[in-house]
Amino acid sequence: MPSFHEIVGQRRPAQILQSILRTQEVPNALLFSGSEGIGKRSMAMIFVQALLCQNVVHAANGINPCGLCRSCKKINSGNHPEFFILEPPSDPPTANIKIDQIRAMQEGMVFEPLETAWKVFVIVSAEKMTVEAQNSLLKTLEEPPQYVVMILIASKPSLLLPTILSRCQQVSFSPLSFSQVESILMERRGWTAGDARLAAAITSGKLGEALSLEVDQVRAMEEELNLLVKDETLSHYDTLFGVAVKFSSDAATLAKALYYLSAYFRDLLVLLAVEDRLQLDRSYLVFSWRMEELLRWSYRMDVRDVTKFLADITTIQQSLVRNINRQLTLETLLMQMRDKLLQVVS
Ligand SMILES: [Zn+2]
Repeated sequence: MPSFHEIVGQRRPAQILQSILRTQEVPNALLFSGSEGIGKRSMAMIFVQALLCQNVVHAANGINPCGLCRSCKKINSGNHPEFFILEPPSDPPTANIKIDQIRAMQEGMVFEPLETAWKVFVIVSAEKMTVEAQNSLLKTLEEPPQYVVMILIASKPSLLLPTILSRCQQVSFSPLSFSQVESILMERRGWTAGDARLAAAITSGKLGEALSLEVDQVRAMEEELNLLVKDETLSHYDTLFGVAVKFSSDAATLAKALYYLSAYFRDLLVLLAVEDRLQLDRSYLVFSWRMEELLRWSYRMDVRDVTKFLADITTIQQSLVRNINRQLTLETLLMQMRDKLLQVVS
């Protein structure tokens, strides 16, 4: 049986939606916001199912769809006559939701539902609507047919017109903690704690991306990112600059590199915090199989150095939204690491 609470880390949105179902005070427009891959769409599907279900289940954890009635089954198989999903075209990945798509949806709203009390429209990646599309949708939001429920799903709601935002009841999804991502990966993919922790680190804790990867891919990605901290990279200027160019090609790549470095330095902090590094239980480390490499770093830096690097990385991460010179920023950081790595150890 589908349940609102099967979606990890999203109790608050689940409670809001279940209370809407209980009171049957259903808003004409809802906006699900929160980062990519944290369960907005899955929760929307459960909500739609529950809204149209012929036999909802009242349990201790609130109202849930039965998953078995004709309506629930039709939603699962994607052919419920009163339920529509609107998505941006899949190719190219940057494609927008155009005004024609919104108009087609609006035409579908004209007729009252036959089998149910509601007619439900879900707009996935709503922030990809063009301004014309948004303006067209606004007309519906201003005067929606009373039987219409629209659910806008957006990971970047700031790209929506303020007039759209103000007409939707917002349901915000919380970011998942690192350990929540880990436990979901272990549970759904059957990965070991080590693999799950690595995948969470490599994908900056983005569950959707982590779930789309295989363990081999995660390892390969880590192998690439490890170039950032390798002796061979840092000890030669030309390789160092080459790596800086490679990992600053776009904001997303740089964000990944910074996330990797911060996870790596955090491992270093663990090593520096224990009395006997050689005896450390490796399961405390994200990059446990890099023990030798980490040890080498740990003899060249103290806790203050590492903390300083972590603070610098955080500053760069925060400045990424501005238009910084990515290559120069990464070069500078790698040069500072180089200075630490190559210093004469007394
Ligand atoms: Zn049902």
